[in-house]
Amino acid sequence: MQQNNDSLEYTRIRRVAPIAVNTHGGRAKCLQRLVRLDLPVPETVALSFDAVRKLADGHPLDISALLKTFGDAPLLTVRPSSEDPDWGGPGAMLNVGMNDQRHAELTQTLGPDTADALYLRFVQAYAIHIERLDPEEFENDSATPVRLALKSALDAYENETDEPFPQDVETQLIKVLRSMARAWSGTTARLLRQAKGAPADAGLGLIVQAMSFGVGADESGAGVIQLIDEETGAPLIRGRYKRQAIGRSALTDKTDVMYLTHDARGPSLEVDCPALFEQLTTMTQLCRVKLREEMLVEFIIENNKLVILDAVRVQRSSRAALRSAVQLAEDGIIPKSDALLRIPPRSLTELLHPQVDPTAPRVAFAKGIAASPGGAVGRLVFSSAAAQVSEARGEACILVRRETAPEDIRGMHSSVGVLTERGGVTSHAAVIARGMGVPCVVGASMTINSRKKTITGANGQTLNEGDMITLDGSAGEALIGETKMLPPSKDYWYLQLMEWADAIRDIDVRANADTPADAAMARDFKAQGIGLCRTEHMFFEGDRLTVMREMIFAATHEDRQEAISRLLPMQRSDFIELFRIMQGQPVCIRLLDPPLHEFLPSDRAGAKELAEALDLPLSDVTRRIEWLSEFNPMLGMRGVRLGITFPEIYEMQARAIFEATIEASKLGAPVVPEVMIPLVSAMREVELVKTLVDGVAAAVRNEKGAEFTYRLGVMVETPRAALRAHEIAQHAAFLSFGTNDLTQMAYGLSRDDAGRFMNAYVQQGVFPEDPFHTLDVDGVGELLTIGAARGRKASPKIVLSVCGEHGGNPESIAFCRAAGFDYVSCSPFRVPVARLAAAQLVAAEAKATNLSRK
Ligand code: PEP
Ligand code: MG
Repeated sequence: MQQNNDSLEYTRIRRVAPIAVNTHGGRAKCLQRLVRLDLPVPETVALSFDAVRKLADGHPLDISALLKTFGDAPLLTVRPSSEDPDWGGPGAMLNVGMNDQRHAELTQTLGPDTADALYLRFVQAYAIHIERLDPEEFENDSATPVRLALKSALDAYENETDEPFPQDVETQLIKVLRSMARAWSGTTARLLRQAKGAPADAGLGLIVQAMSFGVGADESGAGVIQLIDEETGAPLIRGRYKRQAIGRSALTDKTDVMYLTHDARGPSLEVDCPALFEQLTTMTQLCRVKLREEMLVEFIIENNKLVILDAVRVQRSSRAALRSAVQLAEDGIIPKSDALLRIPPRSLTELLHPQVDPTAPRVAFAKGIAASPGGAVGRLVFSSAAAQVSEARGEACILVRRETAPEDIRGMHSSVGVLTERGGVTSHAAVIARGMGVPCVVGASMTINSRKKTITGANGQTLNEGDMITLDGSAGEALIGETKMLPPSKDYWYLQLMEWADAIRDIDVRANADTPADAAMARDFKAQGIGLCRTEHMFFEGDRLTVMREMIFAATHEDRQEAISRLLPMQRSDFIELFRIMQGQPVCIRLLDPPLHEFLPSDRAGAKELAEALDLPLSDVTRRIEWLSEFNPMLGMRGVRLGITFPEIYEMQARAIFEATIEASKLGAPVVPEVMIPLVSAMREVELVKTLVDGVAAAVRNEKGAEFTYRLGVMVETPRAALRAHEIAQHAAFLSFGTNDLTQMAYGLSRDDAGRFMNAYVQQGVFPEDPFHTLDVDGVGELLTIGAARGRKASPKIVLSVCGEHGGNPESIAFCRAAGFDYVSCSPFRVPVARLAAAQLVAAEAKATNLSRK
C-alpha cells in the first residue's frame, strides 16, 4: 500500500511495492528483498527521500495513518536508509511508543527489570538525541537500581523541558522522524558523507519497523550473524547471540553473549538450539545467494520463533571485499564482470603494501599529502647518509627532508618511508617513492630544523633524530611512535581477480621502472613492458655520480669523452639487466632529462668534498656550479636541449642501449628497444637527435656485425609539442605524453612548489582536484586529445601512450582509453590498479549494453 499526500509519503514494505534504492535507500530495498524471500520480517514502513526532505523542512504531517499500520499502541524502531550504506546516517531509535502505560504492561509480561530498562533506555535516547538535552543529566551509573535511574531520567526530562515526558506515540514518532531528517541535512553530516563519495544532494529514507523483543519464557534473545571473516574474507560463521536481550543490544553490548557455533569456551546457539541455528544459517545463506552479497543479518528469537530485523552488507577490509567478490563469482552467484566492478581499483594498493592498521590507536604528529601509499615504522633520520648508516645497522628509518633532490635517492632506497615538509604529488620525493613502493607523505604540516635535527608539528610538539614514528602514506599522516601494521597479501583471490581483469581489458599497462629492482617489480605486477625508464636515476647509483661529475667538470672535449667512456659500460650493463628481466617485452628508455646541476652538490660541504674528489680548487668547483645554475631549471637546459648542446651524452646512451640490445638478444628473447627523446618542443630537435641516434645504430651494427631494430619516439610534454604533434609524428614511431610536465606547463604551475597552495586551491574550488594527481580533462586533456589526434592523423600506426603519474589514475585511464591511447605507464605498484581500472571500463560498458537490451 502506498500513501501519497502533500505532507508525507510512506510505503509499506511488501513483495510488490514501489521501493527503489534511489527513492527509499538501500536498507528499504534490502528489507523488501528479504520479504520477497519469505523471511520473517516484522511489519515495516519506508519513508522516501522526498518525504524525509519535507520532514526536515518542517512540513506538517498526518502520521496517524502510518501508525495504524502497526495496530494499537505499537512499539517501533526507526532506522536510516541512505542510498549507499557507506554514507552513514543518524543512529537508530528503538522503542518509540514507550510510555507509562506500555511500561506497566511490559512489567507484567516481561518483568519489572526488563520493562524498567527498556523505558530508561528510550527516555535517555529521546532526551539526548531527539530533544538534544544535556547528556550528563541522563547518565546513570551501574550501581543505581534501574527503577531509580528511570525515575530520575523522567524527572530530569521534566526539569529540562518544563513538560512531562511525552506519552503520545504520534508525538514521539513525529519528533523522532523529524530529528533524524534534520540530522541528515545538517552541514557536518553532509560534509562527512561527501567525504565518502556521496553527492551533495544525497537523500535519506527512513524505516519504521515494529519492535521485536528478544525476551520471553521460551528461547528468546537477539543476535547477529555473517558468513565471512571481515578481515580476511574467509568463510566462517561469525556473530553472537544474547539471551533475553532486547532489539539490537547484541550488536553493541558484548557482555554475556553466546557463541553461534559450537565452541569449547562457552555455550553456543548451535549446541543449545540446533534447529533454530540450522534455520538461521539457512536464511543467512539464502540472503547471500539472493542478495548476491555477504550480509550481516540481525535477528531476534522470540519464544522459539526466528525474526529477521535487518540485513546489511558486511563491513569488511579491502582484502575481505576482494576475496568475497571472487568467491561469489566462483560460486556462480555473480558474473566475473560484477566481481571486477565491485573492487575499487585504489583499494588494491592496500593489499600490496603493509598498511597502518585502521583500528589501531594513532597519535597524529603531522598531516600532509598522501604521496605514496602504505605504512612504515622507523626511526627519524635527517640525511641520506644517516639513512644509509641506519640501513647498514639493520634499523628501519624514515627519511625526513625539507624536500628531496636527486642526490637523496640513495638515502630513499635505504629508508622505509619518506616525509617532506614541501612538495606535491608529482614532486621529486613523491614520484621516486611511488616508483620504489615506499610510503611517502609530502607537504607535511611541520617545520624541520636540519641543524638541530628536529621536526616540530603544528601543535608545537618536537621530535628528534632517532625518535620512532609511523608513516601512513595512504592517509597522508605522520604518527608518533610505533603503530600496529597489517601485512600485504597477494593471494589466490587477488591473482584470480587480476586474471579476469586482464582477460577483458583493451588498453595496455606498462610500468615506469628505472632500476633492475623496479623492473622485477614491474614484471611481478604483470606490466606489459616498461613505458618509461628515467636513465638519470642510474647515474646516482654507486660510484657513478663521481664519474658523472667528472664528465660535467671536463674542461676539454677529450676529457669529457674519457669520462663518458667510463659511463658507457655502466649504462650498458644496466640496460642488459633491464632487457634480461623484461624478457623480450618492450623497454622504453628515455635519454637524459634533468638539468646537469642536479648531479652537483647543493651545499658548501658537498662542494668541498667534490673539490677533494676531483682534485680541483674549491673556487673552481663553486664557479662551475654557479655557471650551471639556472633561474628556472625546469624550463632551462634539460631534456633534448641538453642532448643537442652536449651530444656526447646522448651518443653514449644510444650506444649503450644498442650494445645491450645485441648482448641481451643473445641471452634470450629478441629485444626491440625504444629510445625516447624528452622535453621536445620543435620538430627540428627530433630531426637532429634522430640523425645522431641513427648514426650510432649504424656504427654499432657495423662494429659488431649484428643486426637489430629499434624504435625512436618522442615525449610530448610541452604544450607546443602537443600542438605540433603532426610534424613530430613524421619522425617518431611513438608519442608518449608526459602529463607531469605537460600539466606543469599548461598551468604554468611548478610541480615542486604547488603543494604550498594546492590545498587552499582545491578547498576553495579553484581546481576541482590537484591537477598533478587527477588529470585536468578540460585543459591538459584537450592538449592530449589534440596531440593524439594530430599525431595519429599524420602517422596512423603511431603508438600513443601516457607515462606521467596520471597513467596510474583510474579516472585518467578512462580518459586515455576514450581518446584512443594504446597504453598507459605508471609506477609499478600502481600497475595492478591500472589493470583493474582498465578492465572495469570494459565491464561497465558491457553491463550498460546488456541493461539497455533488456
Ligand atoms: C612527465 O613529465 O610526465 C614525465 C613522465 O617525466 P618526468 O616526471 O620525469 O619529468
Ligand atoms: Mg617530464
